[in-house]
Amino acid sequence: MKTLTQKVHNFSAGPGILPQEVLQEAAEACINFDNLNLSLLEISHRSKNYVKVMDEARQIVKELFEVGDEYEVLYLGGGASLQFAMVPYNLLTENGYAAYLNTGVWASKAIKEASILGNVKVIASSEDKKFTYIPKNYTIPSDADYFHCTSNNTIYGTEMFEFPDSPVPMVCDMSSDIFSRKVDAKKFALIYAGAQKNMGPAGCTMVMVRKDILGKTGRKMLSMLDYRVHIKGESMYNTPPVFPVYVTLLTLRWLKRNGGISWIEERNKKKAEMLYQEIDRNTCFKGTVEKEDRSRMNVCFVTTKPEYEPLFDEWVKQYNISGIKGHRDVGGYRASLYNALPLESVEVLVEAMQEFEKKYAS
Ligand SMILES: *Cc1c(COP(=O)(O)O)cnc(C)c1O
Repeated sequence: MKTLTQKVHNFSAGPGILPQEVLQEAAEACINFDNLNLSLLEISHRSKNYVKVMDEARQIVKELFEVGDEYEVLYLGGGASLQFAMVPYNLLTENGYAAYLNTGVWASKAIKEASILGNVKVIASSEDKKFTYIPKNYTIPSDADYFHCTSNNTIYGTEMFEFPDSPVPMVCDMSSDIFSRKVDAKKFALIYAGAQKNMGPAGCTMVMVRKDILGKTGRKMLSMLDYRVHIKGESMYNTPPVFPVYVTLLTLRWLKRNGGISWIEERNKKKAEMLYQEIDRNTCFKGTVEKEDRSRMNVCFVTTKPEYEPLFDEWVKQYNISGIKGHRDVGGYRASLYNALPLESVEVLVEAMQEFEKKYAS
């Protein structure tokens, strides 16, 4: 099989970088899965070889989150965006309301969907300062049906480093920092994540839910939107996204065999510290968010002079740096340092920034 001759440093915000060995294994499974002489793409999801994949993919999430059988893990289609609707559909009662934290574009979309289904209170927001910080010192009302937050704001580059003790079920969109660091998963009643940022390829969304919070809305439920139906079907009520689930499993196995969450957390801290340190030191660049809320996954920065930007866009090409353009709503740069990104790629970006400063700012 062809291997890469020229290394590209892939800072893509999503779909994001995957480990090379995972891509290799995934490619092999497309041709010959489990020595069946059949592709994973052409066998039944009910075959025992695939049922094993789904079982392990569900189990490994609980293992990495260190939770027990009060939780169930599902892999669903429709992206994290479908969860913006499924969460209120499954948890919001007719006369009740849901409490939301508004920390960016994705949180706003979650709020919008919930508002279509029922009552929503935004209990804190950082919209006043263009989502450049994480609100603190808010109170979660004890009569809400649930509280929803976004652990990492992929577009603005802020991250929640502390989670409140919620008096009501806490729901979290962890799409862009799942398994990047240790969190106390038992604090959450429901965690969801589109796989394509930090745990696999596009095409499946992981949902981990504590069963006791379900079945309380009184709503007549459509089967495909009912978590209980998917739980009963062991995440195979309908044909699951077989290949994305498999590649997600390969990625989580990679994480586990390399040392798990504590290993990756150390590595992610190191990468982020190295890059932020350079942003703060370099006279050509500056960060865009409050220091204490800076994301370790999506590092957002801008040039100190507008004329630097087209020059830097050109400059990074010689370093084989890819995917650092900021989101179209924010501009500037965003370097995504997801789990699979090696430290070496950050070193190359830092070097590019240092050499750029020497050339243009001295
Ligand atoms: C990318 C992203 C989403 C949207 O995910 P889709 O799978 O495209 O629906 C939602 N939330 C966060 C935090 C994201 O980063």
